[in-house]
Amino acid sequence: MSNTYYENAKEFGEKYLKPYAADIDEKGRFPSESIKELRKNGYFGLVIPKEYGGQGKGVEEHAQVCTGLAESCASASLCYMMSNVGAYCLSLYASEDLKKEILPKVASGEIILGLAYSETGTGTHFYLPEMTEDQKDGYAILNGRKSFVTTAREADYYLTIAHNPESGENNLWLVPGDSEGLSFDSYWNGVGLRGNASVPMILDNTKVDNFYKIEGNGDGDRLIFIVGLASACAGIAMGIANETATYVKKRTYSGGTSLGEIESVETGLANLYTRGYAARETLFAAARSVDREDDDAFQNAIAARVNSTKAAVANGSEGMKLFGGIGYVRNKEPMERLMRDSLAGQVMAPGIDVLRIWLGRLQVQLPYMRPEVAEETTSVKE
Ligand SMILES: Cc1cc2nc3c(=O)[nH]c(=O)nc-3n(C[C@H](O)[C@H](O)[C@H](O)COP(=O)(O)OP(=O)(O)OC[C@H]3O[C@@H](n4cnc5c(N)ncnc54)[C@H](O)[C@@H]3O)c2cc1C
Repeated sequence: MSNTYYENAKEFGEKYLKPYAADIDEKGRFPSESIKELRKNGYFGLVIPKEYGGQGKGVEEHAQVCTGLAESCASASLCYMMSNVGAYCLSLYASEDLKKEILPKVASGEIILGLAYSETGTGTHFYLPEMTEDQKDGYAILNGRKSFVTTAREADYYLTIAHNPESGENNLWLVPGDSEGLSFDSYWNGVGLRGNASVPMILDNTKVDNFYKIEGNGDGDRLIFIVGLASACAGIAMGIANETATYVKKRTYSGGTSLGEIESVETGLANLYTRGYAARETLFAAARSVDREDDDAFQNAIAARVNSTKAAVANGSEGMKLFGGIGYVRNKEPMERLMRDSLAGQVMAPGIDVLRIWLGRLQVQLPYMRPEVAEETTSVKE
């Protein structure tokens, strides 16, 4: 497949996301205008099967679109990405009735989804919940606190994971946003990705009908999630390369020469582009590998995520240097926002330290080791 989805999303982002990116960042507000445009233009149906009103596309298209959008606004791209992952998970594991109820509405842009996995008690091991599920007759009572939920207050449903102490299972639930006992704590004030609205979600004796229970432990959506996080980073890395190239042309000196004419600056631009391009194309190759269900798809997705995260951070640092003094001033040029955005990829779970351990273990235990095994070997509950 060519990069058509990436090119189209990039163009769409420049037109509909970029105009709001600075204001969203400055005010730390949800990217409402951008999400509205994405809803209106059918983006939320990307990975939803055609029979439920979506476009039936896979992980590669997801990677391409999220990367293209992130070049203009990583906050909006990440909110979009989370909804895609939720929809993909539902299409893999939800009951037929739940799919029919939810997926057509996501595909049409009527509703959006959030992911509520992370907890303070298990940190970066977000797939090991301490939130509890107490099964009653036909419904469950959920209790606990999730630490960071992107699109908090704005999503219509939250995909969450809870532990059933009786059965020992960890189960996925789609919790309606207007459920009794569901609340959010505080307002997001992140260093970067300031449009994410990523705050704690509390479920206090929240009753959820078994209709919203999702079979399986979300294994199949893990790769699209890892790829999605990599896309935000690859998009930021490319965004920095683009913005820096634009800036060095317009920055001129008294003699009429521009910053872009200095050889070491040209070398710097080359570094930014090389990292961004390598991150983007490695990611798209890994996403293709996930779609093909290659034996080494898990490893490839991890490698792409580690690579793109490092590329974003390195470009954030080098880009700041090339922007000079003006780059260091808040809200003057996009570079300082991109630099702050670039740092989030390192900590978003599974973080790159954990992923590197998984990848190393996968390497020495080839042929292919299942994700659950990697989890067990890094579990904080060991
Ligand atoms: C902008 C943003 C948006 C987010 N959105 C969501 C969301 O929508 N949904 C959601 O569920 N979560 C979300 N998160 C949460 C994110 O996934 C958490 O930051 C993550 O769970 C890490 O948890 P922690 O901060 O408790 O890290 P900690 O567990 O405290 O770890 C801190 C650091 O220690 C190191 N470390 C910890 N454990 C290990 C280990 N076993 N091996 C090696 N190194 C280790 C790593 O370097 C790690 O970064 C978001 C976070 C951010 C910053």
